[in-house]
Amino acid sequence: MYCKGLLHTCGKSKTIHYHGSKRDEFVVSFLDSATSYTYQKNELVQGTGNMRCEISSFLFGVLEERGMATHYISHNQSGQMLVKPLEMIKLEIIVRNYAAGSIVRNYPIQHGQPFNPPILKLDMKFGNDPMLNSDYIFAMNIATPDELKLIRELAFEVNSTLASLFKEHGILLVDFKFEVGRTAAGEIVIGDEISPDGMRLWDVDTLASIDKDVFRFGSGDLLEKYKEVAERIMGVMA
Ligand code: 5GP
Repeated sequence: MYCKGLLHTCGKSKTIHYHGSKRDEFVVSFLDSATSYTYQKNELVQGTGNMRCEISSFLFGVLEERGMATHYISHNQSGQMLVKPLEMIKLEIIVRNYAAGSIVRNYPIQHGQPFNPPILKLDMKFGNDPMLNSDYIFAMNIATPDELKLIRELAFEVNSTLASLFKEHGILLVDFKFEVGRTAAGEIVIGDEISPDGMRLWDVDTLASIDKDVFRFGSGDLLEKYKEVAERIMGVMA
């Protein structure tokens, strides 16, 4: 276990504590809670916090290897991740390769329609996560024009890296959400988590979901799906 100092943030699916008495590292504890705002579900699903931590740590490592900076330092087997401090930017950065979820609910678009090039959607981390455009982002000083340009480029680079990785293991990356923050030096760095909690993943042959949609629709065992993703992309879990 990492030594937890003062509590910094307590969210629905994670807590963030200072690491010991220092203020230059944080301990993120992934909780076993599964939530869906749209479907008004909030449940404890034992073991999912640790799986999200494992998968997220692995994916952060992959992105780091490809030159994309993340907040990841290390993780342990208890669902805890040690991270660098970031001033989080109030954006949910969503990339879609195929149509599913809110885009199908809200627009005349067929489920499963491919998007080539992929679509970038920016929501505000506020209330029920309203969609933004660049004018809204600048008017609320959420990010500067230079930062937004960087975020767009980063989103497509993360997407192509992750989509190729999943494809190698017979999985389609349908869409995903990630978040970024600023370091003290003003660098844009990937934070939060990147895991099947914030992704849609379909088996390439059957198009069956291996992600949080099984929880949203009550159509399968969430922990089993997360384990399947981990086993397919990372090899057999201990
Ligand atoms: P949608 O816009 O269809 O609801 O979501 C698009 C993608 O972003 C999905 O993979 C979904 O899991 C992810 N996503 C959007 N908002 C959130 C959020 O607030 N939390 C998490 N964990 N994922 C989100």
